[in-house]
Amino acid sequence: MDQTDRPDSQDLIPEDKPASQSGRRTFLQRSSAGLAAALATGAAGTAWAAGPPAAAANSVKLPLIADPRTEQKEETPDANLPPDDRIGYAIVGLGHLALDQILPALSNCKYSRVAALVSGDRNKALKIAHQYGVREADIYDYQSFERLADNSRVQVVYIVLPNGMHKEFTLRAAKIGKHVLCEKPMATSVADCQAMIDACSKNNRKLMVAYRSQYEPMDRMIAKMAKENKLGPLREFIAGNSQNQSGPSQWRLNKALAGGGALPDIGLYALNAARFFSGEEPYEVSASLTQPAADPRFKEVEESVHFIMRFPSGFTATCMASYGCHESRFFRLQGTDGWAEMDPAFGYNGLRMRYGMLVDGKSANTEITIDPNNQFAREIDHMSLCVINDKIPHTPGEEGLQDQRIMEAIYESARTARVVKISKPQASTRGPDPEEETF
Ligand code: NAD
Repeated sequence: MDQTDRPDSQDLIPEDKPASQSGRRTFLQRSSAGLAAALATGAAGTAWAAGPPAAAANSVKLPLIADPRTEQKEETPDANLPPDDRIGYAIVGLGHLALDQILPALSNCKYSRVAALVSGDRNKALKIAHQYGVREADIYDYQSFERLADNSRVQVVYIVLPNGMHKEFTLRAAKIGKHVLCEKPMATSVADCQAMIDACSKNNRKLMVAYRSQYEPMDRMIAKMAKENKLGPLREFIAGNSQNQSGPSQWRLNKALAGGGALPDIGLYALNAARFFSGEEPYEVSASLTQPAADPRFKEVEESVHFIMRFPSGFTATCMASYGCHESRFFRLQGTDGWAEMDPAFGYNGLRMRYGMLVDGKSANTEITIDPNNQFAREIDHMSLCVINDKIPHTPGEEGLQDQRIMEAIYESARTARVVKISKPQASTRGPDPEEETF
């Protein structure tokens, strides 16, 4: 299990609950020691113009977090499609992620529904089908996958299998005319990523990689702050993603099925976040790996990876991922005029975001929580809207391919103990911003 998203790290912020139950988005701001000091000196006075007086004693509204589009949407009634008009998904692989996150998230979707299940375990599939109202006729196994071609209730195949199986099922899905939503990492080699892109393109099918953090509101807020230069020119990104990976029978410790160890599974979150926040592509990387010979878990894959990516503007990302530490997930993005951080970062929920900058010449910082309102549902609905409106997904195959190119450069750098250059992708790796249509 990718414990980046382990449930026991959730719900650290009780204020999330009422907001998420009401299905509305809320902004919760909190004080911090630095902020209290700024307030005591009256430093944040002008920032208060838009803030609620009742909160004045212990919080401040820093002047950039209000997102008019988001707030306006709060007043807009939900545009839910009736169930029969929603885009139907076949969920391929009924493991932890599918059962604990994706299937429950589909119940929160506005444009998407579960229409079929593909599993090697029919009894399990029958149980799940019963739970989610999937007809027995809509259960398939891996061998009978091609029969989905005749199922008009299914438009998208969501691949939730071990990484080394993503390519095979993407190619099979494209061939039978289904769009593909594929879990991260996209595949286990650049060649496989390219083959997936080519197959979907040849069959005129959409391909999206499930980079859920790019659909998560706090991550999106930070990307927006960076894009609007609220932090000043970006200089540094520091991130860590660790967990103590369970025993050697896990497919995640098998090179053929996983493609690598901590890097593709959890280091990828930091790698992708640095690219997403900066909007830049790294031109070189240096890296090292740890693979302790005495630990039977790491016979085939690395325990940990450290890598530094350098970007053309001078921005640098320093990242670490480990399968050998207690769980810990965080990042801090630093610009010349401010910083933003999440700790915990990268998880399903319980995320916390803080940011700091100068207010009236004094340093102030604050904490903000935006109800995530299920990032998986946002991600899946984005794919559905791309199918409905015939648009390129925000995180298409090209985004997964670029991460895979960088991961291969990271492995090469670690192997050769050299800095490795990375050529620029030929075109933008991202489709249009999802905010206008999904949120
Ligand atoms: P899992 O081990 O819990 O489930 C894998 C599923 O694949 C199981 O149903 C298993 O039976 C099936 N399977 C079929 N053939 C198999 C084989 N040869 N070996 C092993 N399993 C086989 O894994 P998971 O945690 O659900 O991860 C599935 C995918 O989702 C991976 O690509 C992973 O990287 C990704 N993932 C993404 C997130 C996220 O937050 N986006 C989180 C966790 C996992």
